Amino acid sequence: MFAAVLRIIPKHKPHAIVVNTVAGGFFGSVADSLAGALFQRKNVCVVCGKTSERNVHCDTPTRYLSGVSYVDNNIVNVLATVAGAAVSLAVAVLLI
Ligand SMILES: [Zn+2]
Repeated sequence: MFAAVLRIIPKHKPHAIVVNTVAGGFFGSVADSLAGALFQRKNVCVVCGKTSERNVHCDTPTRYLSGVSYVDNNIVNVLATVAGAAVSLAVAVLLI
């Protein structure tokens, strides 16, 4: 797979794979932080009062606090991965 990617990069643009990898990784990381902060569901423990992303804390179901109710960390990770990949692809199209 990696060898196949290297073959499509023109020899006069060896920096392209580095730039698009860094851009995709950076943007994916930023997207993960933003989506986590803005959309991810946060719960509060009814026993100890701590904020948690878990549905159970202190062996007791937590209560909804904020965020989109069905957006958990897994969904945030998928969104961030897709966003990073999209940026990486866009950069590759522009550079290659
Ligand atoms: Zn607790």
